[in-house]
Amino acid sequence: MKDIELDPETESTYECFNCGTVVRASAPNACPDCGAEMRNRHTPIE
Ligand SMILES: [Zn+2]
Repeated sequence: MKDIELDPETESTYECFNCGTVVRASAPNACPDCGAEMRNRHTPIE
């Protein structure tokens, strides 16, 4: 088994720059709440 790597098809946690909304998605284009840019929180998944 290899270590878990970031995969574009794997969901990860993203946080909104503007309002702080956190979502789990594979690649969110924008915050579902306010439409601002999302950033990957790089939360490790165990
Ligand atoms: Zn937002």
